[in-house]
Amino acid sequence: MSKLLAQLPASLRDVPPALLFPEIFAQDTRHQGFARGGRDAALKVLAAIKPVTYGRDRSSLEGHVTRLSPYLRHGVLTLAEVRDAALAHAPQTAPSRVWKYVNELSWRDYSVRVYAEVGDLIWQDFGPYKTGLPSSAYAHEFPADIREGETGAACIDAWSRELRETGYLHNRVRMWLASYVVHHRRVWWQAGASWFITHLLDGDPSSNNLGWQWVASTWREYPYLWNRNNLLKYAGDRYCAGCPLADAGCPFDATYAALSARLFGGNEAAPGERGHLNPERLKAVPWEAPPTPEHVPSAVVWVHGTHDHRLGGRSPRCSVSTKVGGPGQIHVPRAFSLPA
Ligand SMILES: Cc1cc2nc3c(=O)[nH]c(=O)nc-3n(C[C@H](O)[C@H](O)[C@H](O)COP(=O)(O)OP(=O)(O)OC[C@H]3O[C@@H](n4cnc5c(N)ncnc54)[C@H](O)[C@@H]3O)c2cc1C
Repeated sequence: MSKLLAQLPASLRDVPPALLFPEIFAQDTRHQGFARGGRDAALKVLAAIKPVTYGRDRSSLEGHVTRLSPYLRHGVLTLAEVRDAALAHAPQTAPSRVWKYVNELSWRDYSVRVYAEVGDLIWQDFGPYKTGLPSSAYAHEFPADIREGETGAACIDAWSRELRETGYLHNRVRMWLASYVVHHRRVWWQAGASWFITHLLDGDPSSNNLGWQWVASTWREYPYLWNRNNLLKYAGDRYCAGCPLADAGCPFDATYAALSARLFGGNEAAPGERGHLNPERLKAVPWEAPPTPEHVPSAVVWVHGTHDHRLGGRSPRCSVSTKVGGPGQIHVPRAFSLPA
């Protein structure tokens, strides 16, 4: 390693991480990161987006999602330039055809602003669960079978593996998986959010925690549930076809009313209070610090430079470190190196 380092040019910008970290990469056979780091790579991905088609098919796993989130998360692209690139696709006569995409970008803008306002309180329940259950009913320990992809449900196990091996999940899969963790397994959303942040290349407490709170119902009027029909609609039968639970025991093969009765005993609470989040009110509520994201001893994310994490950068709970090899470094899927 030291011989290699001596040969490195002053700028490490173009050195493939595999050259810099041969030992790590030698053990890293399972990971297949999808994203290449750097501004040039980001601009190539940006040039290929299809925001008009996105508006029609984004919910489908085959849809034209852009996979720009790691670049946005780490500040390689700004929301404004992605918005402008999307608007350039809009026919003059019908700009509304890209509004769906621009609207999704605005969710990132919103969640980053919430995070900037509430800080670490983003790990606290914004409100009570609307499941009829107190927050004490949710386990703090994250289940090993979900983490290892050994639940026996083909869809859940495939998503767990995909998260670990690629550092990316489609938005709908994030919703499905989070709903399974919180509502089927009755696990504290904070434990699930920490699990995601450990692995996601775009992982950060703003969009991630708001996503988990939305699914859990601590930031929404009712819990998010899905069923097998919903899975078939957006994913086809790729999971069910080979699933050992497909013919008997599929936990998702039910109507929403039946799921709700099974999971919440028909006790869902009346919708909670609405209104803008009040950080002062949040501060007044006692809360417990969240679990720290895990250190995964393989693969590497390489991030240069410093960031303000709230706007896409640094925090004690950041999923990546700003120092290669530094003590706070969390290793997630490879090939995501970012020039300063
Ligand atoms: C439980 C859960 C956890 C999530 N965790 C994260 C996370 O850690 N980091 C993260 O960036 N996003 C997160 N999201 C939001 C969303 O799933 C991802 O931004 C999106 O899937 C990234 O893929 P993409 O770039 O292909 O998205 P596209 O569908 O192509 O959208 C383009 C961009 O819009 C923004 N965007 C789209 N949907 C959302 C959304 N619901 N909330 C906020 N921004 C959005 C993202 O910046 C995204 O890159 C989470 C959602 C859920 C339900």
